Amino acid sequence: MRRSQFFIPTLKETPKEATIPSHRLMLRSGMIHQTTSGIYSWLPLGQSVLANVSRIIKEEMDNAGAQHISMPTIQPAFLWEKSGRYDAYGKEMLRMRDRHDRDMLYGPTAEEVVTDLVASYVTSYKQLPFTLYQINAKFRDEIRPRFGVMRGREFTMKDAYSFDCTFEDAQKSYEAMFQAYIKTFRRMSLNVIPVKADPGAIGGNMSHEFHVVAETGESGLYYEKTIESLRDTGTLTTTEARNYYAASDDMHDPDTCPISKENLCISRGIEVGHIFYLGTKYTEVMNFGIAGENNTTLYPHMGCYGIGVTRVIGALIETFHDKKGICWPSSVAPFLVGLINIRIDNEDTQRLANTLYTSLKNAGISVLYDDRNERSGGKFADMDLIGCPWQVTIGPRDAKENKIELKNRHTEERQLITAETLIPFLKTQIMSDE
Ligand code: ATP
Ligand code: MG
Repeated sequence: MRRSQFFIPTLKETPKEATIPSHRLMLRSGMIHQTTSGIYSWLPLGQSVLANVSRIIKEEMDNAGAQHISMPTIQPAFLWEKSGRYDAYGKEMLRMRDRHDRDMLYGPTAEEVVTDLVASYVTSYKQLPFTLYQINAKFRDEIRPRFGVMRGREFTMKDAYSFDCTFEDAQKSYEAMFQAYIKTFRRMSLNVIPVKADPGAIGGNMSHEFHVVAETGESGLYYEKTIESLRDTGTLTTTEARNYYAASDDMHDPDTCPISKENLCISRGIEVGHIFYLGTKYTEVMNFGIAGENNTTLYPHMGCYGIGVTRVIGALIETFHDKKGICWPSSVAPFLVGLINIRIDNEDTQRLANTLYTSLKNAGISVLYDDRNERSGGKFADMDLIGCPWQVTIGPRDAKENKIELKNRHTEERQLITAETLIPFLKTQIMSDE
């Protein structure tokens, strides 16, 4: 993408409503625009990160055997009256009426809709198990929307729902999602801690929240150090997670905490995911009984599994930023490379920049080419703000010798390399990231 043609309204000033780094940097780098309180438009740069995050989530859901569907965001009230949650949900639910005076709502979650959907087709135990998921907008009329997309009113959620015949099978579905979550967040370079959670309004009796460790997190986190190494070696299962201590502040009591001070990590966390075993709560109230073996009737056991897709992006920036801006991990970066031509009016730099831009694109490597005729200081600052993992700078002296400067945005290491070695170098980086 050529910067001169790209709609990316970066800001020099920090908007005063933004109190945490991710909110500031998302506004300043032109990723999002607040349309009204807690409701955002995603601009091209933000949209591209959103697409990358969604793709990773989708791939890991597919790998875990879940199937992609799409359900409506506008839901009829009668389904929620059936489950008994229409009144219980309270003011967070945005309610509306259609032209025929029927009560409708903007879905804050979709247990009712998915149960009704599956109940329309499944009549026998032979048709189960399966897990369905979608990635779409949810609306919760949060009393205090804040921190940008971290606590929005309209936000994107990945929500999955599993249907099994027995408790034992439902535990397997839960475990598969638990593992998929660990993999998903690892692919984004996010360190998450799964903590046993209070199942709360959604009900059921087993639940884990996935928290990204970050100073600006809204929850207090208390966990046994060992969990980090289990997670990093990919050996953290729900059983392990149950054996080790990890709790957020609403579940943690310092007086009864079984972990010694030396082994207890205390930090703040951002809840990016939440999984629940729901049991037969919804299938029973919504009258979804099916034929079991030997002429029996059974109510399917459900699980539900959410990821706050847009909140993940806030959590990524809280984790990966410095004084100058964002430092994207390669897997979610809007562009892998930021290319800066510091002298637009110079023939050598112009020729080399154009050649590199074309060859990067032909090699399938995403690149943002700052081709504007502006002060180089401003261009460097902008590129650091946007945070592509690799920056390539082309100046007149080096261009004459076919050389470019390559900077690693994370380590700030710079090296002068021959132009031809750039793509092979980046390709090995991409391979080692995967
Ligand atoms: P919170 O405790 O942060 O209000 P929740 O527990 O009510 O969230 P869930 O019902 O567990 O949320 O929803 C699944 C996921 O959706 C959460 O783990 C979170 O990542 C995300 N999420 C929930 N509410 C919001 C919001 N207002 N803005 C952005 N993401 C949200
Ligand atoms: Mg939750």
